[in-house]
Amino acid sequence: MNLKHCPCGRTNAKGQSLALEACCGLYHAGQAAPDAESLMRSRYSAFVRGDVPYLLATWHSSQRPAELTLEAGAKWLGLEIKQHRMNGADRAEVEFVARFRLSGKAVRQHERSRFAREEGRWFYVDGDVL
Ligand SMILES: [Zn+2]
Repeated sequence: MNLKHCPCGRTNAKGQSLALEACCGLYHAGQAAPDAESLMRSRYSAFVRGDVPYLLATWHSSQRPAELTLEAGAKWLGLEIKQHRMNGADRAEVEFVARFRLSGKAVRQHERSRFAREEGRWFYVDGDVL
């Protein structure tokens, strides 16, 4: 998939949107995300693309579900990062709002997620719906 605008909505220093290959696509292809926010963004983009293997691979082994079925027909509308906070060297929290439309209904998912870094890679642990 060649997307001119990465689904996560990240922009460069000039405010220009990044292409998928220059943003979350790097992590989908195997590069380690440099921080929890980047991992969070790449997981959002993976939801948009229906990339279940990536979602499972970036889920911390202590919490990872055996399988994952994505809501069919969800139309993802955007991601907003509210806060990214380190809790020590290898723990972080990211607060975000993800918006999508499902069966004609607009859904706003506001969550504070916890991330952990192991052997240089960030993983999603779990989150609280706010
Ligand atoms: Zn991105």
